[in-house]
Amino acid sequence: MLISESMVMSERPPKKDFSRWYDYVLKEGGFIDVRYGVKGMIVYRERGMDVIDRLYSIFEAKLKERGHKKVLMPLFIPLNAFRKESEHIKGFESEVFKVTQAGDETLDEPLIVRPTSETAFYPMFALWVKSYRDLPFRTYQSVAVYRYETKATRPLFRGREFLWIETHNLFRTEEEAMEHIKGDIDMVGEVFKRIGLPYMVIRREAFDRFPGAKESFAYDTVLPTGEVLQVATTHYLGTNFTAPFEVKYLDQDGNLKYPFSTTLGIGMSRILGATIAVHGDDYGAFVPPLLAEPLGIIVPIYGQGKRDGLEGYIDEVSKKLESLRFVVDLSEMTPGEKYYTSELLGYPLRIEIGEKEMEARVVTVFRRDLRRRYRFRLDEAFEGINGLISEINARLSSVSQLKVSELNEAGNRDEVMKLAAEGKPFKMSFCGREECAKDLKSATGGFEVRGEPVYDKEKAGSVCSWCGEPAVRKVIVARAY
Ligand SMILES: [Zn+2]
Repeated sequence: MLISESMVMSERPPKKDFSRWYDYVLKEGGFIDVRYGVKGMIVYRERGMDVIDRLYSIFEAKLKERGHKKVLMPLFIPLNAFRKESEHIKGFESEVFKVTQAGDETLDEPLIVRPTSETAFYPMFALWVKSYRDLPFRTYQSVAVYRYETKATRPLFRGREFLWIETHNLFRTEEEAMEHIKGDIDMVGEVFKRIGLPYMVIRREAFDRFPGAKESFAYDTVLPTGEVLQVATTHYLGTNFTAPFEVKYLDQDGNLKYPFSTTLGIGMSRILGATIAVHGDDYGAFVPPLLAEPLGIIVPIYGQGKRDGLEGYIDEVSKKLESLRFVVDLSEMTPGEKYYTSELLGYPLRIEIGEKEMEARVVTVFRRDLRRRYRFRLDEAFEGINGLISEINARLSSVSQLKVSELNEAGNRDEVMKLAAEGKPFKMSFCGREECAKDLKSATGGFEVRGEPVYDKEKAGSVCSWCGEPAVRKVIVARAY
């Protein structure tokens, strides 16, 4: 089958047609398939799982370094346990899946399909943690969670099943717990810099915290549409969960005490979706080197009759680059088809080797993000390609530095309406009142007060830009996914 460049390109929606483009790249790039037939649930295909596996292994290695132990809790949570923390249940009850029947029997106690797992971990913490010597106690699990979303779902951004890591941790003091949260924020930031996700770390307003949390800090990434997407959150829970679940330890002073707890959630599905959305272009996806598996493909370009020689040369190149995770594309496609496919799938680099390269003992390397070709002598190829990876990583890191100081600011109602119409995140002075945020949201058709940035904090003006009441802080306002 011969596919011309114009034929391939004409099938791909341009990125400015974002919705169609996003669906096309996810499907044709082999990341996911939405045709499973259960609303809000998708199938993760090989390209999607390659990226997700890398994400899991990067974050899990970092968590283990920080003293977390991996566990796996059951999918089901007894309804009684789920109802123990009153704010938590209020926040989640309308969106849980409930199992009320098994076989022919109606269950005496319904089971909740985990929407998050505090209420699975804490009954076990009560059994496991006895003494101050057991603290800090840091755990995590890598699982899918289930929420009955009634809003419109969107593949990887909002669904009824999504993949994440959740950590659950206990500390002797509030200071230790807050220190741990700082470590969470740094850890997630390090990865986001490597994968070039533009982000803001935001302290959520009291009315927008995780149900049961005393403080919530979130990573909001900004999508090409101007909407923000929460991709990770870390919460300080105080003793809001340890007390109702009777998690107690005997302290050095001989008293029984409730430990302070924290939880971190990192959304693998959302990070995958955001990465595709942010970095892709009219040619397809771009997967950052850190997440790319493999890093790239080697495309043999066979001429007339010299096949054996070329294969020998490709073997030589492969050996030289062994530690860089390239695979030789031996499929039946023409080189041109392989180029277009590899650009759709988003490998950061591609090596093209034909007779010309073999005779000159060089390699041609195509860099996906800039769509530019480079040529290296074989004996310098390893260093040359490593140099390209460093350049790509540096570019990604600079993309991720989203500066609050560079956002537009709304000083009054008219400016809020004007900036909201432009569709991008902006900042404003805020009174801290939920009613004000609700009013702003309905007047602007969906802009939300996301909270105060943790970095580049700016001093608020004297009055709230929306309602005119005294302002307490400057906040980020954006349309959220
Ligand atoms: Zn206000």
